[in-house]
Amino acid sequence: MGTLIVQCNQCQRSHTVDVAELEFDTVGSDDRQMGPEVLYGAEHDIYCTCENHIQISHQYSEYPIGVENEGTTDVTGAFVISDTL
Ligand SMILES: [Zn+2]
Repeated sequence: MGTLIVQCNQCQRSHTVDVAELEFDTVGSDDRQMGPEVLYGAEHDIYCTCENHIQISHQYSEYPIGVENEGTTDVTGAFVISDTL
């Protein structure tokens, strides 16, 4: 868990999003062998100074409970430079 750095598609300005800025909600769960797997997701918007709207969507799962698995990040409107979310 860390930060995401993206570069605006329109003006090449870079933006950094800290994981602390993301608000995660439970988006699903599944019962598995070692107990429940819980899916968390967060949506984050960046309005660049060039007026480009950058949309970030990040999801990860916790399974077994207490263990956070590597997540996936979808970014619209920007290029991902570094993703350690
Ligand atoms: Zn921009």
